[in-house]
Amino acid sequence: MSGLVRIRGLVLREVAVGEADRILTILSADQGRFSASAKGARRQNSRLVSATEVLSLCDFSLFGKNGRFTVDGAERIEAFTAVKEDLVRLTCAAHVAELVLDAVREGEPAPDVYRLVLRTLHAMTLPERDPLLAARVFEFRLMARIGYAPSLTKCMVCGEPPPEGVPLRFSFSRCGVVCGKETCLRQSGEFLEIRPGTLNCLRHIVSAPEEALFSFALDPAVLKELSTVSSRYVRERMERDYTRLSLIAEWDADSL
Ligand SMILES: [Zn+2]
Repeated sequence: MSGLVRIRGLVLREVAVGEADRILTILSADQGRFSASAKGARRQNSRLVSATEVLSLCDFSLFGKNGRFTVDGAERIEAFTAVKEDLVRLTCAAHVAELVLDAVREGEPAPDVYRLVLRTLHAMTLPERDPLLAARVFEFRLMARIGYAPSLTKCMVCGEPPPEGVPLRFSFSRCGVVCGKETCLRQSGEFLEIRPGTLNCLRHIVSAPEEALFSFALDPAVLKELSTVSSRYVRERMERDYTRLSLIAEWDADSL
């Protein structure tokens, strides 16, 4: 990109620099993740003050020169206000942004991830949607979309479909389910026993059409198991700990 370009993107991160400037990290469909500086954006009377906040979806006018971008103007399309006004929803959205910053490379088109992020944030604005479930759905779907799709229909050791309706094992080193046969269990590495409902949920997250991705609710016990499997799967694939969602569980425990 060089000269003046117009691009739609979501602000994932903003860092204050100098007296009144911001450096933004923006996610777009065609450009993936990129940085842009917004001069004077922290001044109260700046026309960029709200458009350059984290989680603002904007049509940006950017001036590009030598691989660097400056925000010339920005028209905000969506502010995700319902997410920003609720601490739990905001924490879940911050988890989404944190993961995307690691998962999407700078300058590489990421239309699938871009759409997934916007769908997730829209789901998080709806009062009937559990933001924690939306965050888990997002992270597991993201793993599948960036090349870490687990095998959920065939045993990773013997290749046979696992029996229906009985507890199954999810193997982290094998990246998928392992059936109950003694020989398979011996070769499965570290695994976690999961309920049939959790396996169905994982299958839905990996293969559901985008428009139906968030249209379900979960029994608390299944959500807890999904959280355990998904958070560990993300940690092992990304080789990093993401701790924001576990904070929410701690707040819940404190409020009991
Ligand atoms: Zn097997």
